[in-house]
Parts: sequence; structure tokens; C-alpha cells
Amino acid sequence: MPLRDRFGRVIEYLRVSVTERCNMRCVYCVSPDQRIYEPHGEQLSFEEIATVVRTLAPHGLRRVRITGGEPLVRPHIPELVGMLAQIPGITDLSLSTNGILLPRYADALKRNGLKRVNISLDTLQPLKFRQISPAGRWEDVWAGIEAALAVGLSPVKLNCVLMKGINDDEILDLARLTLNQPLHVRFIELMPIGNLAFYRQGHMLPISEAKARCAQLGELIPVVQGEAVGGGPAEVFRLPGAQGTLGFIGACTANFCHRCNRMRLSADGYLYPCLGHGVRVDLKPALQLPQGQREEAILSAVERALHRKPVGHQFVALLPHPIFRTMRAIGG
Ligand code: SAM
Repeated sequence: MPLRDRFGRVIEYLRVSVTERCNMRCVYCVSPDQRIYEPHGEQLSFEEIATVVRTLAPHGLRRVRITGGEPLVRPHIPELVGMLAQIPGITDLSLSTNGILLPRYADALKRNGLKRVNISLDTLQPLKFRQISPAGRWEDVWAGIEAALAVGLSPVKLNCVLMKGINDDEILDLARLTLNQPLHVRFIELMPIGNLAFYRQGHMLPISEAKARCAQLGELIPVVQGEAVGGGPAEVFRLPGAQGTLGFIGACTANFCHRCNRMRLSADGYLYPCLGHGVRVDLKPALQLPQGQREEAILSAVERALHRKPVGHQFVALLPHPIFRTMRAIGG
């Protein structure tokens, strides 16, 4: 029986956060006074993560994305990739990263079974990069993108969070990246999660504006998203003759909750059926049971979480009461 929520949506995708830690501090994610280098807290072991995936795969789980925090700051992530890649039924294994550590790990990740990667890239200007992500260097991210291409991870998607007054002047330059290289740019609307003070400064740019501006470069030819590119929430297009694609993800102004197919597992073992809602179920008690009882308990906890999956996210309604955890904690 496939996993379904009470609105009939089939859930086939799990995002697994392997750590809350990050080696960057992007303005929309953390406020300048927030500590992010805290030691690894209680976190699921690789074996526990694999147990969750192994238990859900016979129930229709097909896609797994490793994320964080910054997943590659947790040691031995290629080993986790190797464990998950071997689980029968998992046909799409991907990773979200800021790219900084990819030159070191891309080869091992690919060898151990990683298929594709999403790399955050909000600007093409090294100086502006410092303003958006003060702890990192643009050149290191670019080296990560080149490493991903060189080892044959495919597709390589570039996640660009749109920020009015900060990087909206670069929409066309970012879109042009898709012309001559197999790079797939995904423009993402700024969401009210993480550093809400930044969001409240009015940096949200509706995704429709990014799309309208990209249309200045040529006809936006719709692309039907297949299995190979992950079937995500983006509306995807190709510029005439381009090697890569352009995607537009508008979580708030072009809500796609009606076709949501995912849930999230936090590094500390909570299952979140929705990124924009406080509902969560603790999987740790089930994981501590002896084998035999464990799988049934995991499944029943997942069913409980899915039963509480809301019909849509509550980002805007919850904005005055930011009661839920940050993207970094839940797993972006
Ligand atoms: N560190 C990894 C990375 O950079 O991809 C994985 C985690 S990060 C939270 C995942 C994605 O969420 C990144 O592309 C990041 O830009 C995006 N993100 C974080 N906070 C966001 C926000 N408030 N609105 C929109 N996207 C956000």
C-alpha cells in the first residue's frame, strides 16, 4: 500500500536532514547573532536513517534527498549515500549542498551511488556573495559546481533564492548559465522561515516577476519534468537551444501544496509532514525498539504524521507567531 495522507496525496519522497550545522550563514536563514557552529546535537545514526528508508521503500518511498544544515559538514556522508543507494526501490537519490565541500567529496559521492545534486547559488558576484553568505567564498561554491559536473552528477541544479534589492538584478545573468552548460537554474521565492527579520525587510520577490524577466531572453519552452530531473515543485522551461533548464518555485505566491509528495526527517529524528507547519512526530522511540517490532512502529509513526499533514503550508498565517523550527533544523 502506498503512503497516503488523508487528502489522498501519495507520499513517495523523504528529505533527510543529517545535521543542523552549516559552514555558511546565509542572511535569509540565520540572523547575525545566531550561533550555528554548535556541536552536533543528538542525531540519528546512518544505520537509523537507513532503517527508516528501508522500512518505507516497500510502501512506495522512491525518492530520498540528503540535506541539512550543510550535509557535507557531517563526516562520512558518502558512506550514507552508499547505504541508501543499495536499498531496493529507491530510484532517485539526491543531495542539497552549498557546494563548498563538493571538490573534496563529489567523486566519492558519485562512486557510492549519488545521482544528482542541488547546489545553492544566489549570486554570480563574489563580493555580493559575502553580503549574502558572509562565512563562505563564491569561488569555492563555483569550484563545487565544476566538481559536480566533472564527476558526472546529473542533473546539476542551482538553487537561487530571489531577494528583492539584493540579487534581482542578476536574474538574467543567472538564467544565461543554462544556455551553454548542462546547468539547471531554479529560482526560489523567499519563504518566511529562518531569519524572519530579513524576510520582514521586504525582500520577497514574487516568482512571476522572475519568470517575466527571464522571458526577455527568449521563448520559455515548457519542459515536462520526468523521473530523471526529479519531478519537483518547479515549473520548468528551456530557453531556445539551451543545454539546461530554468525552474520557478513559488512556495507562497504559486503554492503547490495540492501536489505535495514529501515529508522531512530532521537530524534529531522527528518526522515533519510539512515544512511550513509545526506538526511533527518523534521517530526515535520506534527506532529504539528491537528488530521485528521496529518496522511496524516506524510505519505507524509515519502514518500518524501523514494523518496530520495539513492541506497546505501555514507560512503566512504563522508569520506573526514563528513557532516552528528553521529550515536548517527541519531540513531544506
Ligand atoms: N546547505 C544546503 C544547501 O545550501 O542547499 C542544504 C540546506 S538549505 C536550508 C536548502 C535550500 O534552502 C538552499 O537552497 C537555501 O537557499 C534554501 N533556503 C533556506 N532558507 C530559505 C528561505 N527562507 N526561503 C527560501 N529558500 C530558503
